[in-house]
Amino acid sequence: MSSQRVRCSGGVCDTAEARADAVSWVATAQPAIVHRPRRRFGQNFLVDRSCVARIVQALDPRPEDLVVEIGPGRGAVTAPLLERVKVLHVVEIDRDLCARLSVQYPRDRLVVHQGDALRFDFGTLGTGLRLVGNLPYNISSPLLFHIARFAPSVRDCHFMLQREVVDRMAAAPGSRSYGRLSVMLQYRFRVEKLFNVPAGAFRPTPKVDSAFVRLAPHASLPVAARDEAQLGELVAAAFSQRRKTVRNALAAYADADQLSELGIDPRLRPEDLSLADFVRLANAVGGRGAASLPGGRVDDAKGAKPAA
Ligand code: SAM
Repeated sequence: MSSQRVRCSGGVCDTAEARADAVSWVATAQPAIVHRPRRRFGQNFLVDRSCVARIVQALDPRPEDLVVEIGPGRGAVTAPLLERVKVLHVVEIDRDLCARLSVQYPRDRLVVHQGDALRFDFGTLGTGLRLVGNLPYNISSPLLFHIARFAPSVRDCHFMLQREVVDRMAAAPGSRSYGRLSVMLQYRFRVEKLFNVPAGAFRPTPKVDSAFVRLAPHASLPVAARDEAQLGELVAAAFSQRRKTVRNALAAYADADQLSELGIDPRLRPEDLSLADFVRLANAVGGRGAASLPGGRVDDAKGAKPAA
């Protein structure tokens, strides 16, 4: 994805001339600067200043930090961040908002990456990344899984999300919120819920409450899977049938005796298994997923809608 390339209604604004055009376009084409929130982009803009202040305080950026804001929108968080860091990267899918930001701030301070964060290669920005954002809630789970892949390049993440999603991210085994998202994120990160945010802090007002969360990659993994793809597959399979016992939900991977040998009671439900249990199991079954068994069920597990 090209970084500085900013497309606006008037064309591609990737030259000084085009930027000047964009300024005049903004100055003259008044209706264009009236930006209507786009539901398809999950646009609920932060309007509560004290909440913005708490976000910046939680991040506490230093001037040299490599901060990347996902979904800057109208810049509620962008502006105060730019008061603290020398250069800020933003990844925004909405072309009109990108155009707006790129005329508001000089390019050597704000680097606008216009595009889909779900496909953005965060690794190209360097290491020690500090990711921050009031994320689009409609794509939060796939976005979190995408970001988890870049954990080795990340120093920390500070995200606003639907409260229920944050509760799932931070959930402990045995709770109703515990699921695929909890296991796979906790594998990579220490998850810390920081504070709740009421729906009234946003416009338009969402139907759900929000929460702000910090993710910090483990310095070294507390439990390491030999094959992370295998772990992901097993966890997805387990939680796609979370009401079943482990013996039934994971029959394609291990039988009751094998589970017992691994210290896992086959009568438990997937939500009772700890991250360490899942990793131990994934390491023990190795490549033995159901795909390798006659009438294997791995495809079923993959195809099943993951109960994150
Ligand atoms: N940061 C702003 C604020 O707090 O007011 C906007 C937050 S709004 C909840 C989410 C932002 O993410 C919007 O600006 C939206 O356009 C952007 N967005 C939505 N989907 C995106 C995607 N796939 N990639 C990058 N940005 C996206």
